[in-house]
Amino acid sequence: MTTTKQCIEMEDRYGAHNYKPLNVVLTKGAGIWVEDVEGKKYMDFLAAYSAVNQGHCHPRLVKVLQEQSARLALTSRAFRNDQLPFLAKELCDLTGYEMMLPMNSGGEAVETAIKAARKWCYKVKGVEKDKAEIIVCSGNFHGRTTTIISFSTDEQYKDGFGPLTPGFAVIPYGDVEAFRKAVNPNTAAFLVEPIQGESGVVVPTEGFLKECAEICHKNRVLFVADEIQSGLGRTGKLFAFQHENIRPDMVIIGKALSGGMYPVSAVVASREILGVFNPGDHGSTYGGNPIACAVAREALKIIIEEKLPERSAKLGEYLIKKLRTIQSPYVDFYRGKGLWIGIVLKKSAGGARRFCEALQEKGILAKETHETVIRIAPPLIIKKAELDWAFERIREVLSK
Ligand SMILES: *Cc1c(COP(=O)(O)O)cnc(C)c1O
Repeated sequence: MTTTKQCIEMEDRYGAHNYKPLNVVLTKGAGIWVEDVEGKKYMDFLAAYSAVNQGHCHPRLVKVLQEQSARLALTSRAFRNDQLPFLAKELCDLTGYEMMLPMNSGGEAVETAIKAARKWCYKVKGVEKDKAEIIVCSGNFHGRTTTIISFSTDEQYKDGFGPLTPGFAVIPYGDVEAFRKAVNPNTAAFLVEPIQGESGVVVPTEGFLKECAEICHKNRVLFVADEIQSGLGRTGKLFAFQHENIRPDMVIIGKALSGGMYPVSAVVASREILGVFNPGDHGSTYGGNPIACAVAREALKIIIEEKLPERSAKLGEYLIKKLRTIQSPYVDFYRGKGLWIGIVLKKSAGGARRFCEALQEKGILAKETHETVIRIAPPLIIKKAELDWAFERIREVLSK
């Protein structure tokens, strides 16, 4: 029998140590539950960073994956397939944008948005060659490629990986005046997470996104929303930018676009923006493959048909109210939107990791972000009674 100890030793010996996972080795998943190699069950309160909003191994996604993989898996974009056109249309219909470009990982979709924004800036806005600038926010997380870490404000992400890509300016997250000052005639785009996930579920001050969107509009700067983690229902709306009634010029989607079944990401935008790409400008061997497209089509249908954004809004409000009743010597405050809650601990609490380990003991898997925040993000199919079950355990861990 495979044991936890055996798996951890083997992985640590042969796998690079670029993560520090909880010491739980999972072998099965169904809905909100996962099971480790010793047969212990856990409620998943991370949902693979919101990739598994639809729940683990959703039967409809399993079926589509099985059927499509047996029929046609990969054509490359050298040939066309009969799934991509339908995903493209359905995603545009759902989001109200004119065009989409499919990729695999979130990082690749962010890279795609950066390339589109730069090319748009030169070819449409008319900025001088190599002068385009993109404004980003402190505390951002947009992925791990060399260009993307170039504008991270987390020193560890960059340390040892230079020389870095130029062309990015950083403003404090939530600071409209800093944004206004940073915009200049060479500004191509503002790339922003409507709510910062990896930073610890940080919700910007109300009006920040809306005012920045207006400044963008006046100055012909593209507003680019990275909704890879915040989108597709997590915050109680299909997209987090809808909380401020804005319409970004470009939206980056990933994670739950496949319900955790397969790596699928995409960028959606107007024809004026995505139309800048000509054959040969950009691409990916696996991007837009038939399995990815078939799975994503079904994953989107599940989000709508199972009313995941509505569930998230209702259950998130229910849970955060309950959490706020906990008498805890460790908690500073709670923040979030929908079923996406950051439990921010006091400095004196001694870090979030030990609380996550205590939750693991009690059968809940959650992960700390930035040392002092416990992120709550279960699959959005979770039921109220299951949240109550989890709440009791969270209460015990936080009040003891
Ligand atoms: C996860 C994430 C990414 C990167 O996605 P990968 O699939 O890990 O490359 C980018 N932006 C945000 C906001 C994310 O949460």
